[in-house]
Amino acid sequence: MVIKPKVRGFICTNAHPKGCAEAVKQQIDYIRNAGVSGEGPKNVLVIGCSTGYGLASRITSAFGYGANTLGVCFEKAPTERKTGTAGWYNTAAFHTQARNNDLYAETLNGDAFSHEMKREVIEKIKQDLGKVDLVVYSLASPRRTDPNSGETYKSTLKPVGETYTTKTYDTDKDLVHDVTLEPASDEEILNTIKVMGGEDWEMWLDALAEAGVLAENAQTTAYTYIGKELTWPIYGQATIGKAKEDLDRAAAAIIGKHSDLMIDAHVSSLKALVTQASSAIPVMPLYISLLYQVMKDEGTHEGCIEQIRGLFSTCLYGDTPVLDEANRFRMDGKETNDETQAKIKALWDDVSQENFHELSDYAGYHHEFLKLFGFDIDNVDYDEDVDPQVSW
Ligand code: NAD
Repeated sequence: MVIKPKVRGFICTNAHPKGCAEAVKQQIDYIRNAGVSGEGPKNVLVIGCSTGYGLASRITSAFGYGANTLGVCFEKAPTERKTGTAGWYNTAAFHTQARNNDLYAETLNGDAFSHEMKREVIEKIKQDLGKVDLVVYSLASPRRTDPNSGETYKSTLKPVGETYTTKTYDTDKDLVHDVTLEPASDEEILNTIKVMGGEDWEMWLDALAEAGVLAENAQTTAYTYIGKELTWPIYGQATIGKAKEDLDRAAAAIIGKHSDLMIDAHVSSLKALVTQASSAIPVMPLYISLLYQVMKDEGTHEGCIEQIRGLFSTCLYGDTPVLDEANRFRMDGKETNDETQAKIKALWDDVSQENFHELSDYAGYHHEFLKLFGFDIDNVDYDEDVDPQVSW
């Protein structure tokens, strides 16, 4: 099959196996060349391991610190006629590279929110690893079925409190325009907290501790985005921000409940990047295109793997962690500092349909977007007939 990108709105509905493998290899090469600091983890569980920040965490653990990695993700396998999802191919490529380097790598594909998946993971840890000493929680999902009640909750991306009108960029129509977002109802806020808040992270740690598969002094982290004034109305202070605030509550609860094991739990705030999750958030493609322009000019641009290498090397396993008043690790300083934000704000105020491509790095954004699905990567022959059926 010759595979070309099929982009529909903010999503690409297919993926390229060789392109995804190349993208994974580039991240592995980066970690190997850049190296990591500190004595890292031995046995790592990554929940949401197949794309974005979770994949970068897995690569850093394995190829930076030589750790065994067990991953959980929710991806679609390929068929004869249809490609698998990017996360499927990324995972296949990660497994191949890990095993070629004598690194343990296993992945369970299914719903991380379910009791069943937690049980399967615990069995696998008992069988293969004994205990885990790092649990990375990197899920991004639009819905969650509460495993206790069976009820399914959907998250919404809406402002809280009042209607918000702002600029946005429609990637499909190549159009900068104003968008008015109606505020969320109380129920929508609560539902978003149910999906993207800390309840499931806490349930994972409870289940692992109860089963005796959590090592003493183990660390756990869940990822958040805090941002600044430009994104607060749609992210930080919006429905998703409310859910992310609940992660702070969960981190404190995890530390309190598992004090016998001396578990350390931190929310880690990372910078805005193009991932499958962020491209679905209104306003973010415009913000990220301007952010990339400014940070590339400043020489401070980073992708998932650079951010996660920094998080592990300075915060999780380093001795120079940047902590905020809520005990969160902060890796977003190069984005959220006042000077950088002022430059983005100036571009934001100026940007229009006429000058969008000149003022922004949309070319960089679009390249990164296609790369998420294994497209637009050097060294990959996109006219080649490839077999979509790759297994783990
Ligand atoms: P992503 O879409 O690239 O990755 C999501 C992962 O979750 C994938 O591995 C997917 O398979 C898995 N997943 C989704 N639903 C699942 C389910 N029900 N069961 C099992 N696995 C499931 O997202 P990302 O952007 O890397 O986001 C990861 C975390 O980082 C999120 O908490 C997000 O809020 C946070 N974050 C993202 C950004 C950003 O700009 N992208 C910035 C800061 C923080």
